[in-house]
Amino acid sequence: MDKTEEIDHFSGTEQEREEVIQHYHILDLPRLAIEAANVGTWIIDEATRVFIASHRVKELFGYGPEEDLSFEVAMKQIQEKYRTKVIAGIDEAISKDLPYHMDYPVTGFHDQKLRWVKAVGGLYKDPEGKFSHFSGVMMDITDQKEKELRKNKFIGMVSHELKTPLTTLKAYVQMLHVWAKKRKDSFTIGTLTKVEKQVKKMSSMINGFLNLSQVESGKIQLLVQDFDICEVIREAIEETSLLNSTHIIAFSTCDPVIINADRDKIEQVIINLLSNAIKYSPKGTPVIINCEATNDTVAVSVKDEGMGMKKKDIKKLFERYYRVESKDTEKIPGFGIGLYLCSEIIKHHHGQIWVESKPGEGSTFFFRLPLQKQATDL
Ligand code: ADP
Repeated sequence: MDKTEEIDHFSGTEQEREEVIQHYHILDLPRLAIEAANVGTWIIDEATRVFIASHRVKELFGYGPEEDLSFEVAMKQIQEKYRTKVIAGIDEAISKDLPYHMDYPVTGFHDQKLRWVKAVGGLYKDPEGKFSHFSGVMMDITDQKEKELRKNKFIGMVSHELKTPLTTLKAYVQMLHVWAKKRKDSFTIGTLTKVEKQVKKMSSMINGFLNLSQVESGKIQLLVQDFDICEVIREAIEETSLLNSTHIIAFSTCDPVIINADRDKIEQVIINLLSNAIKYSPKGTPVIINCEATNDTVAVSVKDEGMGMKKKDIKKLFERYYRVESKDTEKIPGFGIGLYLCSEIIKHHHGQIWVESKPGEGSTFFFRLPLQKQATDL
């Protein structure tokens, strides 16, 4: 029985009950719960940036409970690759009053042990409405993270192994296609076209998993170059139409818009959005893709007249493995990684991706990219 229940069922006098309440520090229950769950707490003063860490946070950073842990020293324990991101995340959360949540690895100061931590926090205003402190909690997620890393490694390895025989298969099918064309063998040509379509579908699925594992392990490199995004849109339409002949994709060609980005990855984003528009809308309905440039950005939109989605799903749509669960979607296959990959690719090009949608009315997915050179490695 927990202490609150114990006190509610207390059979002594009123005065004795009061003493028990005092003894158990009822008002301290949140603190007790936090400590029992082995969760650390931290506070950063918004004005002075003074950092106060609980014993548990110090422990996670490899310090003793009585030792001082300043903000600068704590940041030094974060692995270099993540440090700038964490500091930028805190600055952004404080300056824009945004919720803060981040997972990152820390090397313990004394024990040199590697721990993954999850930090969650936000800004808390004083009664006068001014910001007073930025605070939150910190948990050890090493076990969970190690399992996740093992799983990603496995997915990456399997996808890589599957890719090689599939590439060979593709080459043989192409050879047979040429041979059948020479012999004007229409039955074989028709069959090989179907085989090619299925091989392409399989290869795009495998590429999705390969990219996922590369994004997760931070190993994807962006191969940045100047190219015309309108040309890439046309190629993406052609590629998508080869695999899906159920919808007409409309695109009013535009003047060339030269951007500096990873061509293949941007094409992959467009193909993902087009394939989804087709997958989640009835046969024969239009899919419209648009491209609009301003002085320093280009925005691409993909509009469908499909099932649309609710507000609560929109919030989670770009999360890894998220799929909308409804009667309409239960029979449509998928893994919930396409939009996550799109959002990671766009984010690393310093762009934005979002969706406007209403259930039953359709969806429009947008992404915007800067025109000048900004992309960084994933
Ligand atoms: P997948 O399609 O493989 O499930 P995605 O990451 O591409 O994975 O999409 C995640 C979810 O978002 C889908 O399961 C679907 O429920 C929803 N979704 C994506 N695109 C659309 C769209 N154009 N219309 C309606 N729902 C969509």
